[in-house]
Formats: sequence, C-alpha cells, structure tokens
Amino acid sequence: MPETITTVGGGLAGLALGIGLRQRGVPVTLWEAGAYPRHRVCGEFISGQGQEVLARLGLLGLLEKAGARPAVDAAFFCGRSSVPSRPLPQPALCLSRFVLDSLLAEELVRLGGKLKPGERWRGAYGPGIVRASGRQIEPVVEGYRWIGLKAHARNVVPSADLELHFLASGYVGLCRLPGEIFNVCGLFRTETTVPDLGTTWRQWLTGPEGSPLHERLAPAQFEENSFCSVAGLDLRPRNARTIAQCCIGDALTMIPPMTGNGMSMALESAEMALDPLAEYSRGKLSWTEAQAQIAQACDARFRRRLRWATRLQRLLMVPAARNMLMRFTAHFEGLGRALFRLTR
Ligand SMILES: Cc1cc2nc3c(=O)[nH]c(=O)nc-3n(C[C@H](O)[C@H](O)[C@H](O)COP(=O)(O)OP(=O)(O)OC[C@H]3O[C@@H](n4cnc5c(N)ncnc54)[C@H](O)[C@@H]3O)c2cc1C
Repeated sequence: MPETITTVGGGLAGLALGIGLRQRGVPVTLWEAGAYPRHRVCGEFISGQGQEVLARLGLLGLLEKAGARPAVDAAFFCGRSSVPSRPLPQPALCLSRFVLDSLLAEELVRLGGKLKPGERWRGAYGPGIVRASGRQIEPVVEGYRWIGLKAHARNVVPSADLELHFLASGYVGLCRLPGEIFNVCGLFRTETTVPDLGTTWRQWLTGPEGSPLHERLAPAQFEENSFCSVAGLDLRPRNARTIAQCCIGDALTMIPPMTGNGMSMALESAEMALDPLAEYSRGKLSWTEAQAQIAQACDARFRRRLRWATRLQRLLMVPAARNMLMRFTAHFEGLGRALFRLTR
C-alpha cells in the first residue's frame, strides 16, 4: 500500500498537487484552515506555463465550463502617461479564486482525496508532509510593510482585458472576469503601521483623485463581500535548496504580483513535485531524495523569472525609473514582450 502524502494548505498549489497525486493512485490527505468557496487576494489571471499544467492535469475543460475567459490584451497607466492596449504575447486565463479553488477542491474529493476543510495543521513538517500553506509572513521587509487588497466590481469599462495602474505607493490591476465582473486588486507598501483596511480599502483600490484609475472606477459598484486583504508579504526570492521543509507555491517563494505568474508557479511547482512524491509514496525514493529532486527542479525552473521580476518590481517602485520604463515600453513594443517573456 503506497504511503499517504499529507499536504498542508488547499490553495492552488496544494489542490493541484493533491489532484495530480490521486491521478497517480497516491493516497492524499489535504488540510485546509479555511472553507470553500472563499475569496482570496489575487489578480485572478493565470499567465504563463500554469495553463499548460492545468491542461496536463485535465483541468482546463473544467475551468472553461465554469466560464474561465481569456485575457488577450493589456494596457498600462502611470500618472498621465500610458501604454495603450496591446495584445498579450500569450493570452492569460481569468477566473475568480472563489470559483477556481472550489472547483479544484471538488475534483480532489471526486478523485478520492481526503480533504479536511476548516482544519489547521499544527504539527511538525517531516517525511511525507508537503507545505503548501501560502506566504511566509514577514511584517516588515527593507523598512516597508507590503499589503494586498482585492474586491470585485461591476460597471467598469476598461480599455483592455487587463489594465495595470502604477501609483505612488504600489499598483492596482483590473481584470475582466466572467459575467461582466471586474477584479480590482492592488499591491501597496507603507512605511507606517498597516491602516484599518476594513474602512479604507476603497480609497486604496481607487487611487488618488484625478488619476486614470480613479476616473475608471468612479462608476464602479463594488461587491462588499468579495473584499479581502493580506499583509506581511515578503516578495524577496527564496531558494528551495536552502529551505528545510518540502515547500511548493507561495510557501516556497513569491513572485511580484504584477507578473500575474504566482498561480502559475504554484501549479508548476505542484506538477514538478508529483513524480518524486509518487516514488517516495511507493518506497522507491527516500524522503531526502524526493525533497532534493523537487527543490532542484523548482530552483532551476524559477531562478531566472524571479530575478527579473524582482528587478522589475524594484524599478517600478521608483517614480523616475517607472516613468522612463513606461516611455520606452510605449515606443518599443519589443521591450514589453521581452519583459513579459523574462518574467515567465
Ligand atoms: C496582490 C496580489 C495579486 C496577485 N495577483 C495574481 C495574479 O493576477 N495572477 C497570479 O497568477 N498570481 C497572483 N498573485 C499570486 C497568487 O495569488 C499566489 O501566488 C497563489 O495564490 C499561491 O497559491 P498557494 O496555493 O501557494 O497559496 P494560497 O493560495 O495562499 O493557499 C494557501 C492555503 O493554505 C492554507 N493554510 C495556511 N496555513 C495552514 C495550516 N497551518 N493548515 C491548513 N491550511 C493552511 C490557507 O488557508 C490557504 O488556503 C497575487 C498575489 C497578491 C498578493
């Protein structure tokens, strides 16, 4: 009888891992502290190789049936300058996490996985236990507190399927979801203590008066119950081989959100863990060997995109550099495409 793999965390990484292991006949128990369905802070577009992982896991059809729609173009705004709507080098896939995570949780159960929603893992991490528990909390990073906010809105008329608006303290993305709903999601940094987001989130997400973002969202009707927030984000890249536990997804490392690649990395890291974990479960690899193979594969796959995404994010937080990059990208289409490729 193969050994059970215990997964801690039922976000995209943990659910994809559980589904892939069940497809290989491996017993799976997944602990999830929260319940389904639930909203999560996320721009809700999957960009990059994650879509191919979904296809290989046989999940793409399921998502399309649930209304997942492609985003084919993007526009960028910074103060009064803008890069007008342009086709994305590769379409992104847009679906709310409210729907996506629930669908995958149902699929895991359908395949015979043991799902424990509402149960927080409090044990240690060791052989047979995979950490997919999301971000490692760091209240202050290099003097800043990073926060993420998200809410859905109706009555938004953007110029492209994806819009990214750069502001003094961060950026806000708009993404068209199925059913004429728009995801409004922002990443911000502050040097002071985190404000009361429950009362101020609209001000953060709609930007300063007079900005293109503010104008765009003036008629928006926000869905109050979709609002969610996260704090303590640490966007510094981490190397899997330096981490004692077997980690996938954000628990391993986070990529700056403007790339729209975090979900892809969660799916890709889950897929890279499948064969080593299945072999461990059948007694063909030791835990140390399985963990080392997963870490090596993740580091090799993610090193370059993390490096470029980190550089880009640093640049975009400096007003003069941000303006220059916007001007260059507006004039040289190839630059935008190159940055897109390097961060995926
Ligand atoms: C502002 C912002 C915008 C983003 N926009 C995008 C985007 O547009 N596109 C994109 O691809 N990515 C985006 N991301 C990144 C993306 O959301 C994450 O990379 C992705 O959700 C990671 O999935 P995960 O499964 O690793 O973690 P999560 O989705 O965070 O799931 C972790 C799960 O573990 C559970 N958990 C934690 N501890 C325990 C425990 N002890 N026991 C049991 N359960 C536990 C949690 O409840 C949670 O459900 C964005 C991130 C931010 C912050």
